[in-house]
Formats: sequence, C-alpha cells, structure tokens
Amino acid sequence: MNLTKIDYRKWESKKAVYDFLMNQQKKINKVCFNNALTEIDVQVHPMTGRVDLFNNLFCGGKYLPAGKGLKPQIILFPCALLNKDVAKRGLAHGMIHHWEHSFNDNPNGWNYPEELNEIVYQRFKGKRTSREALWRERHSSRFLAKAYQVARKLNISLENFLFG
Ligand SMILES: [Zn+2]
Repeated sequence: MNLTKIDYRKWESKKAVYDFLMNQQKKINKVCFNNALTEIDVQVHPMTGRVDLFNNLFCGGKYLPAGKGLKPQIILFPCALLNKDVAKRGLAHGMIHHWEHSFNDNPNGWNYPEELNEIVYQRFKGKRTSREALWRERHSSRFLAKAYQVARKLNISLENFLFG
C-alpha cells in the first residue's frame, strides 16, 4: 500500500476530502468541545519524511499552533485518509491537541481511567520502550482524559481512537 499519496478515488475529489473535514470539524467542535475551539486550518499533505502521526508513530498527521498571522493547523497525511472513520479520528485527535494548547484550565486536575494505561502499554509492548515514553511525553494526562471523553462522545472505542 502506498501511503505517501492520497487516493482521491476513494473520496471522489479533493474537494470532497476538504468538505468532509470542514463539516466534521464543526460537528466535533460542537459535540465534544461546546464550540469552544477556534477554527483550525486543516490541510492534507503528501507524506514526507518519517511517519509521524501526531507523534504517536502510528497514524498520520500533526498539529501546529497558530503562528504570526496564521491560523492553527492540522496537517493530515494520506494514511489518515484511508477512509472517513480514520480521517475523523485523526481530525479529532488533532483537535484535542488544539484544545490543550488553547486552554490552560486546571492543568493538573485531569484524571483518566486506569484502562487507558493498559491500552497504551499493550500498544507499545514489544516495541522499543522509548516509543512509549515519547508518546507519553506528547500526550499528557489532560490530553488522555479529554481523549477519553471525546472517544465516548463520538462512540469510538478508546483503543481505536488512540491507535486505530
Ligand atoms: Zn497526538
């Protein structure tokens, strides 16, 4: 499977991809964030360099906070666009990074269910342990607590949401 290029045949057109992502961004913002998030510029890019799906090393995208005169950005790579479910998960993941970056409420008061530790452990088991450490470093307790909420609201299993 060539994961460096986007197969637009699956999406009918490039416009269909962007329309889907824009609609989903609005829906997810409403359902999961009470419309608190500012609009994110979502871009689809061919993959360059190593696989770096939100730094989780499994999926395909990254989040860039707002810069000078630039909106915050989520960049999705082709492997995050295999189908609509995967695209929605990738987008929601990036939106949690945006939420975390945008708000600083109660930074240490977020707890997530213990089952999440097991899911993360199982995902990295047998892999270089540094990968789990790196993933953990980039996904705080606050991120994970929010991911738990978002996955429930979108009716996606936590495992699928984080690593599917
Ligand atoms: Zn991430």
